[in-house]
Amino acid sequence: MKYILALLLTSSSLYADRIYIDSEDLEISQDAFYVHIGGNMWREAGDLHIDDSGLYIDDNAEFDKKWKCPYCHMMWPLKSPCKNADCPSKYK
Ligand SMILES: [Zn+2]
Repeated sequence: MKYILALLLTSSSLYADRIYIDSEDLEISQDAFYVHIGGNMWREAGDLHIDDSGLYIDDNAEFDKKWKCPYCHMMWPLKSPCKNADCPSKYK
């Protein structure tokens, strides 16, 4: 039984790469976590984990990439303009 459990743990860790994140690259909204992946692109993350090395997310699934509006700080799908009616941005 212990042997089977060890096998399962080993194989699952092969599929789930951990992406460690700095707290300044993390945005927490009401229903999701977003992780900065560079160039003002943000990745939606399902679950946030912590271990001895710090905060991380699993890289075992496809998540939507978003950009953050620099004016109202809301997340939007790439190639989509900011749709916030109250946004002070001129890029509408
Ligand atoms: Zn905006």
